[in-house]
Amino acid sequence: MSQEIPQPPHESPLIPELLNNDASIQFRCHKGVSCYNACCKLADITLTPYDVLRLKKHFGISTTDVLAKYTVPFEMDASGMPGIKLKTQDEEPVCLLMNKEGCSVYENRPSACRYYPVGLMAMRKKDSPVDEHHYCLVKEDHCKGHDEDNKLTIGQYRKEQGVEEYDEMNREWYQVILKKRSSGPAIGKPSTKSFQLFFMCSYDMDRFREFVRAEGFQDIFEIDDDEMNRYLSDDYTLLKFAFRFLKQVLFGEATITVKEGAEERRLAQRVELRAKQKVRTDR
Ligand code: SF4
Ligand code: SF4
Repeated sequence: MSQEIPQPPHESPLIPELLNNDASIQFRCHKGVSCYNACCKLADITLTPYDVLRLKKHFGISTTDVLAKYTVPFEMDASGMPGIKLKTQDEEPVCLLMNKEGCSVYENRPSACRYYPVGLMAMRKKDSPVDEHHYCLVKEDHCKGHDEDNKLTIGQYRKEQGVEEYDEMNREWYQVILKKRSSGPAIGKPSTKSFQLFFMCSYDMDRFREFVRAEGFQDIFEIDDDEMNRYLSDDYTLLKFAFRFLKQVLFGEATITVKEGAEERRLAQRVELRAKQKVRTDR
């Protein structure tokens, strides 16, 4: 048994064979194919953290606005782990980002769109500390790219589609999901607060930046000015820091130094806050 993050780009019948990077596929997608854009008219695109940053870059708006304008929330699994999907047009499964010419964000299109018709399967075998990445092939009737005379390995296809960078940026996020899933039943249902934190650290870097900049955060964590400036000035560096922060808070993997006495001070503040709330309700 294994924990998996199947990431098929669309709701599709998967050929359930696990493939590796060297596996050979026959596929080519190009503007002359008879089904051009058919896949974007049936879009069911799950987004990753790096996808949100690429869309932010494309539109020149905040991550908070990307989330509000172009995504819908969904639960990634039975525990309620929060995920996001690209919005489709009202009452139709047509991707909101498709226009007459095709994909309006092509240079910054999401990982799942780049991968299609290959699906990424991140998984962890039971009792194994190591994550594994495999692939699967999605074959849908409307997709005629499989009939094209073009053989290549999945590794070559990944390179051609530029997904290596996406996988590298999302690598630790997949680790967090797999670890959270595998520890789930043992520690009970995750709290709403932990899911809210997961959502912010995964998808909303501009809100996370404000969180890191706030006095409350800097009272607890020991981060020198240079390091802090790097996090505050670059979304991609901040994203990596967000994954470290998640691992520390969710799994106790301490890589960010906590200031001496910070826990005690935080506890004292909480007690004080509760006491004030009690006085208010007793009045
Ligand atoms: S983002 Fe672009 S490639 Fe992906 S489904 Fe939408 S239109 Fe198609
Ligand atoms: S070949 Fe497949 S991936 Fe390419 S446009 Fe057609 S349906 Fe989409």
